[in-house]
Amino acid sequence: MNKTIKISLAGAVAIIIAIAIAAVILNDTAQVVIDAGHGGNDVGAEYNGRYEKDDNLALALLVAEKLKEKDIDVGLTRDDDSFISLAKRCKIANFKKAQLFVSLHRNSANNANGVEIWVSSKKPEKDIQLAENILSALDEAGISQNRGVKSGYARGSGDYYINSHSNMSSCLVELGFINSEQDNELFDKNIDAYAEAIADAIIISLN
Ligand SMILES: [Zn+2]
Repeated sequence: MNKTIKISLAGAVAIIIAIAIAAVILNDTAQVVIDAGHGGNDVGAEYNGRYEKDDNLALALLVAEKLKEKDIDVGLTRDDDSFISLAKRCKIANFKKAQLFVSLHRNSANNANGVEIWVSSKKPEKDIQLAENILSALDEAGISQNRGVKSGYARGSGDYYINSHSNMSSCLVELGFINSEQDNELFDKNIDAYAEAIADAIIISLN
């Protein structure tokens, strides 16, 4: 084999590898992306050594597992205790061209309990429907109080970042208050049922 053929063979192999990598990247889609709020140095809300980031991750992993069992193509913004910026979380969901984006959190306030779900103030029906489906499924699984679907942002004007920077229907679930003993007991006892409820509600919300 002469030198020119060797070089062009190497070139062809490089091109084939590049195409294969591009195909894998372009195929990196998901029907649903689940976001475990906070992570790493950002622990989220905290109560007696209990970190919101850990509850969010445990629940997100379970929801993803339930969705996979039901043949739903699901992606996660994080699957370990690492810090991911809000911008990156939205980029992941947008890049994967997800139909639905669900962010999981736990709330914190004095003397409050129950579950509420936030949607963007500018988003259409579909987001509200997704949030309502998740909330009624959780209500059925057993929560201390149904605080309703809310739009906007709890601490001022505007919207939660993940709701305003994602291209698809999205919502932010506040699954009980981390400083409510009652909500924590329910969360620990029902985490599997909550994950199942969220997964089922997501499935009925898909096109
Ligand atoms: Zn949070």
